[in-house]
Amino acid sequence: MNTYDVIVVGSGPAGACAAWRLAKAGVSVAVLEKATLPRYKTCGGGIVGRAMQSLPMDIRHTVERDCHTAQLNFLPAGLSFTTHRQTPIVSMTMRDQFDYALLSAAQEFGAAVHQRCAVDNVLFHGDFVTLATGTGSMSAKFVVAADGALSTAARTMSLVDGHVLIPALEYEVTVPHDRLDRFHGVARFDFGLIPYGYAWTFPKNDHLSIGILSMAQRGSDLKQAMARYLDLLGCGPVTQIERHGFVIPIRPRRGPFADKRIVLVGDAAGFADPVTGEGISFAIRSGLLAAQSLVDGQLEEESVRHTYTRSLTETILPELRRGRVLARLLYDFPRIRSWAFSQQGQRLCEAVTDVMAGKRQYRDLTFTPQTLLRLLSPKWLRNSTYRPARPRDDRV
Ligand SMILES: Cc1cc2nc3c(=O)[nH]c(=O)nc-3n(C[C@H](O)[C@H](O)[C@H](O)COP(=O)(O)OP(=O)(O)OC[C@H]3O[C@@H](n4cnc5c(N)ncnc54)[C@H](O)[C@@H]3O)c2cc1C
Repeated sequence: MNTYDVIVVGSGPAGACAAWRLAKAGVSVAVLEKATLPRYKTCGGGIVGRAMQSLPMDIRHTVERDCHTAQLNFLPAGLSFTTHRQTPIVSMTMRDQFDYALLSAAQEFGAAVHQRCAVDNVLFHGDFVTLATGTGSMSAKFVVAADGALSTAARTMSLVDGHVLIPALEYEVTVPHDRLDRFHGVARFDFGLIPYGYAWTFPKNDHLSIGILSMAQRGSDLKQAMARYLDLLGCGPVTQIERHGFVIPIRPRRGPFADKRIVLVGDAAGFADPVTGEGISFAIRSGLLAAQSLVDGQLEEESVRHTYTRSLTETILPELRRGRVLARLLYDFPRIRSWAFSQQGQRLCEAVTDVMAGKRQYRDLTFTPQTLLRLLSPKWLRNSTYRPARPRDDRV
């Protein structure tokens, strides 16, 4: 039986970053991945500024296009806003290349990788864990569950779920080059095509990644809305479309996030952003935090649990809570949203862009009823005492 200090299940950004940090610290670590690598992943492949900043390795070679401009359209209200930054707001990648670059960095520090190795079950034995895989059993002192939104490893922890999964579609659309050029350098987001959701268009080297999500768990006809979106974009004669769909966890599990020598990270823990569905930032950060907790806690069960829980409580969890408040305002009250954006659309878009760019956090936006009223009130009513935390400014 193969034995390691730590086994990471899943080679997405959460798993690869955890393995990188562990291998760099000299911990014997293996990554088990069910797919053949590099593998396609249903995702827009948009790496927002805050994700890029938290990456400990250089993956620039996987970026197909940088978008310094974001365009937000509120279709029924006929409103459109554009934000610009000197550093890219979103860097466009294809996830097979991006994830493989992260994993290769972990391998360079000595992480072992077993591909085509699906984990079917995880068994806890007190001071070690065994994993049943299609190719035999393996054991470790700890498991990092980084196997995505439908995590098998998390299921074996018998947690009360609590996480909320929403549906999303991603189409890889090949269009003539002159049409592709129209989308050059701009990450486009469109609200109002579907209740409780939005659509996006991300330009890649030779095609567009076009997607749509609904924050409502069921009842949305995403395929029909996507057909309307493709018409609206006027991509012209489409030469090829690959259609994919998956889920995004926009509410975390109830926890505990470390139990029975299993540590949950990324989508397996339910750490996608509740406002945008963007999940790579918190996948990277939770992967690194989990690995650091394992190193600092010297693979001691109680100590790891304590350290990881404290790190999450101080960083990711409060940010997700604030994000959920903003998401409710954005999606549950479309009329208030239209009114708010008609009054202060540019300011609101700049604020969300700052969060995505990693210049502010949702918690800096302090959405108390009082501050919201001030934010949305006309200029002459705004009280000089309200000063939202200013980001380091790189607006252009
Ligand atoms: C349509 C769509 C568009 C999205 N667009 C964006 C975007 O543009 N930007 C962004 O930041 N986020 C986006 N997201 C969210 C993002 O894809 C996820 O949040 C992110 O991939 C989470 O990373 P992860 O490492 O936790 O899990 P994943 O990336 O899902 O990786 C999990 C890995 O585990 C493997 N695995 C699963 N089960 C097992 C098993 N039993 N044994 C072994 N291996 C296993 C899988 O093959 C996979 O490689 C999108 C999601 C969807 C659905």
